[in-house]
Amino acid sequence: MWHGRAAVQRGDHVRGCQPGNRSQPSLWHRHRCLVWHTLQSRRDVERYLPTHTKTRTQAPHTPTDTQKAGKYGDYRSCDAPMSLAESLFSHLSMVQDQFDYIIMTGDVPAHDTWNQSKTDQIAHLVVLDQLFNTYLPNKPVYSCIGNHESSPMHSFPPPTIPVADIGWLYGALAQSWGKWLPQSALETVVSCGGFSISPFPGFRIISINDNYCNKGNLWLLLDTRDPCNVLQWLIGELQKAEDKGEKVHMLLHIPPGEGDCLKAWSYNYFNIVNRYENTIVNQFYGHSHKDWFEMFYDNVNFQRPVGFGFIAPSVTPGGQINPIYKIYTMDGNYTGSSWAVLDVDSYYLNLTEANLSGNPVWKYEFSPRQLFKMPSLYAADWDNLVQRMEGDDDLLQLFNLYKNNLYPQDKCTGTCRTDLLCGLVEGRSYDPELCKKHIDF
Ligand SMILES: [Zn+2]
Repeated sequence: MWHGRAAVQRGDHVRGCQPGNRSQPSLWHRHRCLVWHTLQSRRDVERYLPTHTKTRTQAPHTPTDTQKAGKYGDYRSCDAPMSLAESLFSHLSMVQDQFDYIIMTGDVPAHDTWNQSKTDQIAHLVVLDQLFNTYLPNKPVYSCIGNHESSPMHSFPPPTIPVADIGWLYGALAQSWGKWLPQSALETVVSCGGFSISPFPGFRIISINDNYCNKGNLWLLLDTRDPCNVLQWLIGELQKAEDKGEKVHMLLHIPPGEGDCLKAWSYNYFNIVNRYENTIVNQFYGHSHKDWFEMFYDNVNFQRPVGFGFIAPSVTPGGQINPIYKIYTMDGNYTGSSWAVLDVDSYYLNLTEANLSGNPVWKYEFSPRQLFKMPSLYAADWDNLVQRMEGDDDLLQLFNLYKNNLYPQDKCTGTCRTDLLCGLVEGRSYDPELCKKHIDF
């Protein structure tokens, strides 16, 4: 079902989302954009040393010219300064007629994790709210929670552990996200850090707190039995959606097939995606900073694709990547919409050029349909792309360049090639058999 397909051209954006109209709600993915050193960004950038060159005990000192980060950030383990965040928001405010709402896949605070308190993490949320209110006050924002949101990082105690409390964070999130969520959704934000809402008739967004599968969350050593009943709650929400004929988009921070997601949680989530393959039409993750995807296959024969998740790149350039955001064009909003993603347009900031010129220019990057010659963006198309990459090394190298946000790459061979291909087909963590079923080595 490709309703509206003929209308999907780059730059052809339909404003508004009135029921009954064929509009193309788009959304913006942002993963770990900013928010540290808030109002002191300029001074901090001038004095900033990439984090890998300093330790917790080093005394402050003046960096040399080659150690200084650029005005808009730096590829060397340096998160987004406020100048980069302001550049992005200013740019988005000028193109805001091209999207109807925004999704964020988590991780707001930066990587100076040794230097963060609970108060700091809440302050980051407040600064982000201020940016949205200043530049995009009328755009709904739907988010999921990242592992960096807590203090210490990764610390998300399940409610079965009475000596610990994560209420300080979930309450702050409810306040931050509350502008765009109904009271019923805020109740689950406060209890478990996630929500389920229907922003348009026939369409549902479910935000899952998958910090309860994070292997870095040491509280799970005490109790890993579906912490906060997140998966049980998810099944209930998906069943209600199926009963109503709704289509669902899932928001998760940690890609569930990655090694950061514990095996049992990942295994159960994989089965849930299988059961509700006709209801879950798209999934959106963050966490990795890079631009790729993760396949889900039929859990009986493992050859039939049943779903996939977009893994969003980041705005932070740390880790040798360029800042990126995306606009997804979807089939909607009219009665019977499939809510499938029809195309994805990526936009990037060439950080080297921005720092040299002092003038940040966000440019068009690519559409996977055009660049990788994909007829559509269903799970079967992404599965086909993986198969084509196996036999077409030029295509694999091209994919790897765009996976790394256009930062120049060495030729990807050997372990790099194996990791790249296996990562794409492993929607279930710690299961190397999945890769052997799909990739010939
Ligand atoms: Zn993360």
